This record gives sequence, C-alpha cells and structure tokens, in this order.
Amino acid sequence: MKSKNKKEKIETCFICQRKFNIEADDNSHYHYGKYPICNYCSEFYGFYL
Ligand SMILES: [Zn+2]
Repeated sequence: MKSKNKKEKIETCFICQRKFNIEADDNSHYHYGKYPICNYCSEFYGFYL
C-alpha cells in the first residue's frame, strides 16, 4: 500500500476539538488565517474562505 501523505499537519479543531490534518485536500482550513477548523465543521458551519 502506497502512502500518499505528502504533507501532514495535525491541528485541533477550534470548534469541535477534534484532531485533524489541516493539510488534507478537503475543506479544513484556518478560519481568519488563525483558528483551525476541521472539514466537518467547515461544511457544517459553511466557513469557506
Ligand atoms: Zn471541527
């Protein structure tokens, strides 16, 4: 099995406190460039920046 984690940076979500990889190709991002928001919360709260 080939590993495809080119980049990984584990952050704790600002909203749900769950740990996630902010470098993943999903909607996770830093809200206001500062607060880590996971993919789930990005979709749920609509924080697309
Ligand atoms: Zn979250």
